[in-house]
Amino acid sequence: MSELIVSVSGVRGTVGEALTPQVACDFACAFAASLSRGATVVLARDTRPSGAAFSAAARAGLLASGVNVIDIGVVTTPGAALMTKTLNADGAVVITASHNPIEYNGMKFLQPDGPALTAEQANRLAQAWRDGGFRFADARSQGKARTDDSTHSRHVEAVCDLLDVGTVAEKRFRVVLDSINGAGCIVTPMLLDRLGCEVLHINSEPTGDFAHTPEPVEQNLSQLCGAVREHKADVGFAQDPDADRLVLVDEQGRFIGEEYTLALAAADVLARRKGDLATNLATSRMIDDIAADAGCRVLRSPTGEANVAELMAREGCIFGGEGNGGVMEPELARVRDSLVGIAYVLRRLAETGKTLSELVAEIPSYQFVKTKLPCPQGRAEQVVKAVREDFSDAPDARFNDADGLRIDLPVGWVSVRGSNTEPILRIFAEAGNEKIADELVQRVRQIAENVAAS
Ligand code: MG
Repeated sequence: MSELIVSVSGVRGTVGEALTPQVACDFACAFAASLSRGATVVLARDTRPSGAAFSAAARAGLLASGVNVIDIGVVTTPGAALMTKTLNADGAVVITASHNPIEYNGMKFLQPDGPALTAEQANRLAQAWRDGGFRFADARSQGKARTDDSTHSRHVEAVCDLLDVGTVAEKRFRVVLDSINGAGCIVTPMLLDRLGCEVLHINSEPTGDFAHTPEPVEQNLSQLCGAVREHKADVGFAQDPDADRLVLVDEQGRFIGEEYTLALAAADVLARRKGDLATNLATSRMIDDIAADAGCRVLRSPTGEANVAELMAREGCIFGGEGNGGVMEPELARVRDSLVGIAYVLRRLAETGKTLSELVAEIPSYQFVKTKLPCPQGRAEQVVKAVREDFSDAPDARFNDADGLRIDLPVGWVSVRGSNTEPILRIFAEAGNEKIADELVQRVRQIAENVAAS
Protein backbone atom coordinates (compact mmCIF):
# COMPACT_ATOMS: atom_id res chain seq x y z
CA MET A 1 0.00 0.00 0.00
CA SER A 2 1.37 3.39 -0.96
CA GLU A 3 1.88 5.98 1.74
CA LEU A 4 0.06 9.22 2.26
CA ILE A 5 2.30 12.09 1.15
CA VAL A 6 2.07 15.06 3.50
CA SER A 7 4.14 18.04 2.36
CA VAL A 8 4.13 21.83 2.25
CA SER A 9 1.93 21.54 -0.85
CA GLY A 10 -0.80 19.65 1.05
CA VAL A 11 -1.82 16.00 1.15
CA ARG A 12 -1.81 13.42 -1.62
CA GLY A 13 -2.42 9.68 -1.76
CA THR A 14 -3.88 6.80 -3.74
CA VAL A 15 -7.65 6.74 -3.59
CA GLY A 16 -9.03 4.05 -1.28
CA GLU A 17 -5.57 3.14 0.01
CA ALA A 18 -3.52 5.95 1.52
CA LEU A 19 -6.28 8.50 1.03
CA THR A 20 -9.67 7.62 2.54
CA PRO A 21 -12.70 9.73 3.50
CA GLN A 22 -11.51 9.39 7.11
CA VAL A 23 -8.20 11.06 6.25
CA ALA A 24 -10.01 13.87 4.38
CA CYS A 25 -12.36 14.42 7.34
CA ASP A 26 -9.49 14.42 9.85
CA PHE A 27 -7.44 16.89 7.82
CA ALA A 28 -10.49 19.15 7.53
CA CYS A 29 -10.87 18.96 11.32
CA ALA A 30 -7.19 19.83 11.78
CA PHE A 31 -7.60 22.79 9.41
CA ALA A 32 -10.76 23.90 11.26
CA ALA A 33 -8.84 23.77 14.53
CA SER A 34 -6.43 26.40 13.17
CA LEU A 35 -9.39 28.78 12.63
CA SER A 36 -11.73 30.42 15.09
CA ARG A 37 -15.21 29.01 15.72
CA GLY A 38 -17.67 30.56 13.29
CA ALA A 39 -14.99 30.94 10.62
CA THR A 40 -15.94 30.36 6.98
CA VAL A 41 -14.09 28.05 4.60
CA VAL A 42 -14.46 27.71 0.84
CA LEU A 43 -14.65 24.07 -0.30
CA ALA A 44 -13.82 23.12 -3.89
CA ARG A 45 -12.74 20.11 -5.91
CA ASP A 46 -11.41 19.17 -9.33
CA THR A 47 -13.18 16.74 -11.68
CA ARG A 48 -11.85 13.44 -10.30
CA PRO A 49 -14.69 10.97 -9.61
CA SER A 50 -13.32 10.40 -6.10
CA GLY A 51 -13.68 14.12 -5.36
CA ALA A 52 -17.36 13.84 -4.46
CA ALA A 53 -16.69 11.51 -1.51
CA PHE A 54 -13.61 13.39 -0.26
CA SER A 55 -15.39 16.72 -0.56
CA ALA A 56 -18.35 15.36 1.46
CA ALA A 57 -15.97 14.02 4.10
CA ALA A 58 -14.09 17.33 4.36
CA ARG A 59 -17.38 19.20 4.56
CA ALA A 60 -18.54 16.96 7.42
CA GLY A 61 -15.32 17.60 9.33
CA LEU A 62 -15.55 21.38 8.86
CA LEU A 63 -19.24 21.66 9.82
CA ALA A 64 -18.89 19.38 12.83
CA SER A 65 -15.97 21.57 13.98
CA GLY A 66 -18.25 24.62 13.97
CA VAL A 67 -16.86 26.10 10.74
CA ASN A 68 -19.17 27.39 8.00
CA VAL A 69 -18.71 26.03 4.50
CA ILE A 70 -19.25 27.68 1.13
CA ASP A 71 -19.23 24.79 -1.33
CA ILE A 72 -18.23 26.11 -4.76
CA GLY A 73 -18.22 22.68 -6.40
CA VAL A 74 -15.99 21.65 -9.31
CA VAL A 75 -13.70 24.58 -10.07
CA THR A 76 -10.04 25.29 -10.78
CA THR A 77 -7.57 25.85 -7.94
CA PRO A 78 -7.01 29.49 -8.98
CA GLY A 79 -10.81 29.92 -9.13
CA ALA A 80 -11.05 28.63 -5.56
CA ALA A 81 -8.29 31.03 -4.48
CA LEU A 82 -10.06 33.97 -6.10
CA MET A 83 -13.34 33.05 -4.38
CA THR A 84 -11.63 32.74 -1.01
CA LYS A 85 -10.39 36.30 -1.39
CA THR A 86 -13.60 37.66 -2.93
CA LEU A 87 -15.91 36.13 -0.32
CA ASN A 88 -13.61 37.18 2.55
CA ALA A 89 -13.40 33.55 3.65
CA ASP A 90 -10.92 32.46 6.28
CA GLY A 91 -9.35 29.80 4.07
CA ALA A 92 -10.10 27.11 1.52
CA VAL A 93 -9.89 23.37 1.13
CA VAL A 94 -9.41 22.20 -2.46
CA ILE A 95 -9.80 18.49 -3.18
CA THR A 96 -7.30 17.83 -5.98
CA ALA A 97 -4.18 15.83 -6.77
CA SER A 98 -3.12 18.46 -9.31
CA HIS A 99 -1.10 16.86 -12.16
CA ASN A 100 -1.25 13.29 -10.77
CA PRO A 101 -3.23 10.48 -12.47
CA ILE A 102 -6.80 9.47 -11.60
CA GLU A 103 -5.59 6.90 -9.04
CA TYR A 104 -4.63 9.83 -6.80
CA ASN A 105 -6.48 12.53 -4.99
CA GLY A 106 -5.41 15.06 -2.40
CA MET A 107 -6.11 18.27 -0.52
CA LYS A 108 -4.66 21.75 -0.89
CA PHE A 109 -5.24 24.30 1.85
CA LEU A 110 -5.38 28.03 1.10
CA GLN A 111 -4.95 31.17 3.19
CA PRO A 112 -7.67 33.87 3.46
CA ASP A 113 -6.45 35.92 0.49
CA GLY A 114 -5.86 32.85 -1.68
CA PRO A 115 -2.25 31.61 -1.57
CA ALA A 116 -1.30 28.14 -0.35
CA LEU A 117 -0.39 27.82 3.31
CA THR A 118 3.15 28.88 4.15
CA ALA A 119 5.61 26.08 4.92
CA GLU A 120 5.27 26.91 8.62
CA GLN A 121 1.45 26.81 8.50
CA ALA A 122 1.52 23.57 6.50
CA ASN A 123 3.85 21.96 9.05
CA ARG A 124 1.58 23.04 11.92
CA LEU A 125 -1.45 21.61 10.09
CA ALA A 126 0.29 18.28 9.51
CA GLN A 127 1.28 18.13 13.18
CA ALA A 128 -2.31 18.89 14.29
CA TRP A 129 -3.52 16.05 12.03
CA ARG A 130 -0.96 13.64 13.52
CA ASP A 131 -1.89 14.69 17.07
CA GLY A 132 -5.61 14.13 16.41
CA GLY A 133 -7.99 14.56 19.35
CA PHE A 134 -10.22 17.07 17.53
CA ARG A 135 -12.84 18.95 19.51
CA PHE A 136 -16.24 18.95 17.85
CA ALA A 137 -18.90 21.62 18.18
CA ASP A 138 -22.04 20.98 20.25
CA ALA A 139 -25.55 20.75 18.85
CA ARG A 140 -26.12 24.51 18.74
CA SER A 141 -22.70 25.46 17.33
CA GLN A 142 -22.53 23.41 14.13
CA GLY A 143 -21.25 25.18 11.03
CA LYS A 144 -23.68 26.22 8.31
CA ALA A 145 -23.30 25.22 4.67
CA ARG A 146 -24.25 27.00 1.50
CA THR A 147 -23.33 26.68 -2.15
CA ASP A 148 -22.06 29.30 -4.60
CA ASP A 149 -21.85 28.69 -8.33
CA SER A 150 -20.42 32.03 -9.40
CA THR A 151 -16.72 31.03 -9.49
CA HIS A 152 -16.30 30.63 -13.25
CA SER A 153 -18.00 33.90 -14.19
CA ARG A 154 -16.15 35.84 -11.49
CA HIS A 155 -12.84 34.31 -12.58
CA VAL A 156 -13.39 35.24 -16.22
CA GLU A 157 -14.37 38.79 -15.23
CA ALA A 158 -11.34 39.15 -12.97
CA VAL A 159 -8.96 38.02 -15.72
CA CYS A 160 -10.62 40.26 -18.32
CA ASP A 161 -10.31 43.22 -15.92
CA LEU A 162 -6.52 42.81 -16.16
CA LEU A 163 -6.45 43.73 -19.84
CA ASP A 164 -8.06 45.57 -22.70
CA VAL A 165 -10.11 42.67 -24.07
CA GLY A 166 -10.59 44.36 -27.46
CA THR A 167 -6.84 44.31 -28.21
CA VAL A 168 -6.89 40.51 -28.11
CA ALA A 169 -10.41 39.92 -29.43
CA GLU A 170 -9.88 41.81 -32.68
CA LYS A 171 -7.14 39.35 -33.66
CA ARG A 172 -9.59 36.41 -33.73
CA PHE A 173 -6.87 33.95 -32.70
CA ARG A 174 -7.32 30.28 -33.54
CA VAL A 175 -6.64 28.30 -30.39
CA VAL A 176 -6.51 24.60 -29.53
CA LEU A 177 -7.14 23.96 -25.83
CA ASP A 178 -6.45 20.68 -24.02
CA SER A 179 -8.16 20.75 -20.61
CA ILE A 180 -7.41 17.05 -19.93
CA ASN A 181 -11.08 16.56 -18.84
CA GLY A 182 -10.13 18.52 -15.74
CA ALA A 183 -11.35 21.56 -13.84
CA GLY A 184 -10.43 23.96 -16.64
CA CYS A 185 -13.05 22.46 -18.99
CA ILE A 186 -15.88 24.94 -18.32
CA VAL A 187 -14.21 28.20 -17.38
CA THR A 188 -11.39 28.28 -19.95
CA PRO A 189 -13.60 28.28 -23.07
CA MET A 190 -15.66 31.03 -21.37
CA LEU A 191 -12.51 33.14 -21.17
CA LEU A 192 -11.39 32.33 -24.72
CA ASP A 193 -14.84 33.26 -26.00
CA ARG A 194 -14.57 36.66 -24.28
CA LEU A 195 -11.15 37.07 -25.87
CA GLY A 196 -12.65 36.54 -29.33
CA CYS A 197 -10.85 33.27 -30.03
CA GLU A 198 -11.94 30.53 -32.36
CA VAL A 199 -11.48 27.48 -30.14
CA LEU A 200 -10.99 23.80 -30.82
CA HIS A 201 -11.37 22.24 -27.39
CA ILE A 202 -9.99 18.73 -26.90
CA ASN A 203 -10.41 16.60 -23.77
CA SER A 204 -13.16 19.02 -22.88
CA GLU A 205 -15.55 16.97 -20.72
CA PRO A 206 -15.22 17.63 -16.96
CA THR A 207 -15.32 13.94 -16.11
CA GLY A 208 -11.93 13.48 -14.45
CA ASP A 209 -11.37 10.61 -16.85
CA PHE A 210 -8.00 11.95 -17.96
CA ALA A 211 -7.44 11.36 -21.66
CA HIS A 212 -3.67 11.13 -21.27
CA THR A 213 -1.15 11.18 -18.43
CA PRO A 214 -2.13 14.51 -16.89
CA GLU A 215 1.18 16.25 -16.27
CA PRO A 216 1.51 18.88 -19.03
CA VAL A 217 4.94 17.82 -20.31
CA GLU A 218 6.06 17.06 -23.85
CA GLN A 219 5.55 13.28 -23.91
CA ASN A 220 1.88 13.71 -22.89
CA LEU A 221 0.88 16.37 -25.40
CA SER A 222 1.25 14.77 -28.84
CA GLN A 223 -2.52 14.97 -29.42
CA LEU A 224 -2.46 18.73 -28.78
CA CYS A 225 0.59 19.28 -31.02
CA GLY A 226 -1.09 17.35 -33.85
CA ALA A 227 -4.35 19.27 -33.46
CA VAL A 228 -2.54 22.63 -33.62
CA ARG A 229 -0.90 21.62 -36.91
CA GLU A 230 -4.06 20.13 -38.37
CA HIS A 231 -6.22 23.16 -37.57
CA LYS A 232 -3.51 25.70 -38.40
CA ALA A 233 -3.96 27.27 -34.98
CA ASP A 234 -1.97 30.25 -33.69
CA VAL A 235 -1.31 28.56 -30.36
CA GLY A 236 -2.06 25.43 -28.34
CA PHE A 237 -2.73 25.58 -24.59
CA ALA A 238 -2.51 22.61 -22.20
CA GLN A 239 -3.70 22.73 -18.61
CA ASP A 240 -3.20 20.31 -15.75
CA PRO A 241 -6.29 18.84 -14.00
CA ASP A 242 -6.72 21.70 -11.52
CA ALA A 243 -5.79 24.31 -14.14
CA ASP A 244 -3.10 26.13 -12.25
CA ARG A 245 -0.37 25.18 -14.72
CA LEU A 246 -0.26 26.08 -18.41
CA VAL A 247 2.06 25.01 -21.21
CA LEU A 248 2.24 26.24 -24.77
CA VAL A 249 2.47 24.73 -28.24
CA ASP A 250 3.54 27.08 -31.02
CA GLU A 251 1.81 27.61 -34.39
CA GLN A 252 3.99 24.88 -35.95
CA GLY A 253 2.70 22.36 -33.42
CA ARG A 254 5.92 22.34 -31.40
CA PHE A 255 5.88 21.89 -27.64
CA ILE A 256 8.00 24.83 -26.54
CA GLY A 257 8.66 23.84 -22.93
CA GLU A 258 6.89 24.81 -19.73
CA GLU A 259 9.52 27.42 -18.84
CA TYR A 260 8.30 29.69 -21.66
CA THR A 261 4.87 30.27 -20.12
CA LEU A 262 6.32 32.36 -17.31
CA ALA A 263 8.93 33.99 -19.56
CA LEU A 264 6.40 35.16 -22.17
CA ALA A 265 3.83 36.27 -19.59
CA ALA A 266 6.54 38.21 -17.73
CA ALA A 267 7.58 39.93 -20.97
CA ASP A 268 3.97 40.95 -21.46
CA VAL A 269 3.61 42.33 -17.92
CA LEU A 270 6.91 44.23 -18.02
CA ALA A 271 5.94 45.86 -21.31
CA ARG A 272 3.39 47.94 -19.35
CA ARG A 273 4.43 47.89 -15.66
CA LYS A 274 7.87 47.97 -14.04
CA GLY A 275 8.71 46.21 -10.81
CA ASP A 276 10.37 43.18 -9.27
CA LEU A 277 9.46 39.63 -10.29
CA ALA A 278 9.34 36.61 -7.97
CA THR A 279 10.21 33.04 -8.89
CA ASN A 280 11.91 30.01 -7.38
CA LEU A 281 15.54 28.95 -7.49
CA ALA A 282 14.91 26.18 -10.04
CA THR A 283 13.35 28.40 -12.70
CA SER A 284 15.17 29.19 -15.94
CA ARG A 285 17.38 32.23 -16.33
CA MET A 286 15.23 33.36 -19.29
CA ILE A 287 13.21 35.47 -16.89
CA ASP A 288 16.38 37.26 -15.72
CA ASP A 289 17.13 38.30 -19.30
CA ILE A 290 13.58 39.56 -19.77
CA ALA A 291 13.65 41.47 -16.48
CA ALA A 292 17.09 42.93 -17.23
CA ASP A 293 15.84 44.25 -20.60
CA ALA A 294 13.10 46.08 -18.68
CA GLY A 295 15.52 47.32 -15.99
CA CYS A 296 13.86 45.14 -13.35
CA ARG A 297 15.02 42.51 -10.86
CA VAL A 298 14.14 38.85 -10.32
CA LEU A 299 13.92 37.71 -6.69
CA ARG A 300 14.17 33.99 -5.98
CA SER A 301 12.64 31.82 -3.26
CA PRO A 302 13.07 28.15 -2.35
CA THR A 303 10.98 25.81 -4.52
CA GLY A 304 7.32 25.45 -3.60
CA GLU A 305 4.48 27.68 -4.73
CA ALA A 306 3.83 28.95 -1.19
CA ASN A 307 7.43 30.21 -0.97
CA VAL A 308 7.10 32.22 -4.18
CA ALA A 309 3.79 33.65 -2.92
CA GLU A 310 5.38 34.65 0.37
CA LEU A 311 8.34 36.33 -1.35
CA MET A 312 5.95 38.13 -3.68
CA ALA A 313 3.99 39.58 -0.76
CA ARG A 314 7.05 40.43 1.32
CA GLU A 315 8.88 42.26 -1.47
CA GLY A 316 5.87 43.71 -3.26
CA CYS A 317 6.64 41.92 -6.54
CA ILE A 318 4.33 42.86 -9.40
CA PHE A 319 4.32 39.41 -11.02
CA GLY A 320 5.91 36.00 -10.76
CA GLY A 321 5.46 32.26 -10.81
CA GLU A 322 7.30 29.03 -11.43
CA GLY A 323 9.07 27.52 -14.42
CA ASN A 324 6.64 24.59 -14.42
CA GLY A 325 4.09 26.68 -16.31
CA GLY A 326 2.67 28.47 -13.29
CA VAL A 327 2.15 32.23 -13.54
CA MET A 328 1.07 34.25 -10.51
CA GLU A 329 -0.69 37.60 -10.80
CA PRO A 330 -0.96 39.17 -7.34
CA GLU A 331 -3.79 41.46 -8.47
CA LEU A 332 -5.98 38.33 -8.53
CA ALA A 333 -4.52 35.97 -5.94
CA ARG A 334 -1.00 34.77 -5.28
CA VAL A 335 -1.58 31.33 -6.82
CA ARG A 336 -0.62 29.89 -10.18
CA ASP A 337 -3.37 30.59 -12.69
CA SER A 338 -3.53 29.11 -16.21
CA LEU A 339 -6.25 31.59 -17.22
CA VAL A 340 -4.01 34.55 -16.46
CA GLY A 341 -1.24 32.84 -18.44
CA ILE A 342 -3.54 32.38 -21.43
CA ALA A 343 -4.65 36.02 -21.35
CA TYR A 344 -1.12 37.40 -21.10
CA VAL A 345 0.30 35.15 -23.83
CA LEU A 346 -2.55 36.10 -26.18
CA ARG A 347 -2.03 39.79 -25.39
CA ARG A 348 1.69 39.41 -26.16
CA LEU A 349 0.83 37.83 -29.51
CA ALA A 350 -1.74 40.54 -30.25
CA GLU A 351 0.44 43.50 -29.32
CA THR A 352 3.62 42.35 -31.04
CA GLY A 353 1.90 40.94 -34.12
CA LYS A 354 4.48 38.14 -34.04
CA THR A 355 3.94 34.39 -34.08
CA LEU A 356 4.61 32.37 -30.97
CA SER A 357 7.69 30.78 -32.53
CA GLU A 358 9.05 34.27 -33.35
CA LEU A 359 8.50 35.40 -29.75
CA VAL A 360 10.24 32.27 -28.47
CA ALA A 361 13.19 32.83 -30.83
CA GLU A 362 13.71 36.32 -29.37
CA ILE A 363 14.37 34.94 -25.89
CA PRO A 364 17.91 33.63 -25.31
CA SER A 365 17.60 29.87 -24.98
CA TYR A 366 19.26 27.72 -22.35
CA GLN A 367 19.88 24.04 -21.76
CA PHE A 368 19.13 22.32 -18.48
CA VAL A 369 21.16 19.39 -17.14
CA LYS A 370 19.95 17.62 -14.00
CA THR A 371 21.29 14.75 -11.97
CA LYS A 372 20.84 13.21 -8.54
CA LEU A 373 23.04 11.02 -6.39
CA PRO A 374 22.64 9.18 -3.08
CA CYS A 375 23.37 11.34 -0.06
CA PRO A 376 22.79 10.23 3.54
CA GLN A 377 20.96 12.58 5.91
CA GLY A 378 23.18 15.41 7.07
CA ARG A 379 25.81 15.16 4.36
CA ALA A 380 24.11 17.65 2.01
CA GLU A 381 25.18 20.54 4.24
CA GLN A 382 28.83 19.46 4.00
CA VAL A 383 28.56 19.24 0.22
CA VAL A 384 26.98 22.68 0.00
CA LYS A 385 29.81 24.13 2.10
CA ALA A 386 32.47 22.44 -0.05
CA VAL A 387 30.83 23.63 -3.27
CA ARG A 388 30.69 27.18 -1.96
CA GLU A 389 34.39 27.07 -1.14
CA ASP A 390 35.26 25.62 -4.52
CA PHE A 391 33.43 28.42 -6.35
CA SER A 392 34.44 31.17 -3.91
CA ASP A 393 36.97 32.78 -6.26
CA ALA A 394 34.93 32.32 -9.45
CA PRO A 395 34.70 35.76 -11.11
CA ASP A 396 31.32 37.48 -10.80
CA ALA A 397 29.74 34.55 -8.96
CA ARG A 398 26.54 35.27 -7.02
CA PHE A 399 25.48 32.88 -4.27
CA ASN A 400 21.94 32.21 -3.00
CA ASP A 401 21.63 29.86 -0.02
CA ALA A 402 17.87 30.12 0.59
CA ASP A 403 17.51 26.43 -0.38
CA GLY A 404 20.75 24.47 -0.62
CA LEU A 405 23.02 26.59 -2.82
CA ARG A 406 22.56 28.20 -6.21
CA ILE A 407 25.54 29.82 -7.87
CA ASP A 408 24.92 32.22 -10.74
CA LEU A 409 27.89 32.68 -13.06
CA PRO A 410 28.14 34.68 -16.27
CA VAL A 411 27.95 31.43 -18.32
CA GLY A 412 25.05 29.86 -16.42
CA TRP A 413 24.05 28.65 -12.99
CA VAL A 414 24.32 25.50 -10.94
CA SER A 415 22.42 24.47 -7.83
CA VAL A 416 22.86 21.72 -5.29
CA ARG A 417 20.39 20.75 -2.59
CA GLY A 418 19.48 17.79 -0.42
CA SER A 419 15.97 16.43 -0.98
CA ASN A 420 13.51 17.00 1.87
CA THR A 421 11.86 13.62 1.38
CA GLU A 422 14.58 11.22 0.13
CA PRO A 423 18.28 10.65 0.96
CA ILE A 424 19.45 12.13 -2.33
CA LEU A 425 21.29 15.19 -3.55
CA ARG A 426 19.94 17.06 -6.57
CA ILE A 427 22.26 18.97 -8.89
CA PHE A 428 20.80 21.27 -11.58
CA ALA A 429 22.60 23.46 -14.05
CA GLU A 430 21.48 25.73 -16.85
CA ALA A 431 23.69 27.36 -19.46
CA GLY A 432 23.67 28.61 -23.02
CA ASN A 433 24.69 25.18 -24.24
CA GLU A 434 24.53 21.66 -22.90
CA LYS A 435 28.29 21.21 -22.70
CA ILE A 436 28.73 24.08 -20.23
CA ALA A 437 25.71 22.99 -18.18
CA ASP A 438 27.08 19.46 -18.05
CA GLU A 439 30.53 20.71 -16.98
CA LEU A 440 28.94 22.63 -14.10
CA VAL A 441 27.01 19.55 -12.99
CA GLN A 442 30.14 17.36 -13.21
CA ARG A 443 32.20 19.85 -11.21
CA VAL A 444 29.63 19.80 -8.37
CA ARG A 445 29.21 16.02 -8.61
CA GLN A 446 32.97 15.58 -8.20
CA ILE A 447 32.94 17.76 -5.09
CA ALA A 448 30.04 15.74 -3.65
CA GLU A 449 31.91 12.50 -4.33
CA ASN A 450 35.06 13.88 -2.68
CA VAL A 451 33.03 14.79 0.41
CA ALA A 452 31.54 11.28 0.47
CA ALA A 453 35.00 9.70 0.22
CA SER A 454 36.61 11.85 2.90
MG1 MG B 1 -1.94 21.76 -10.56
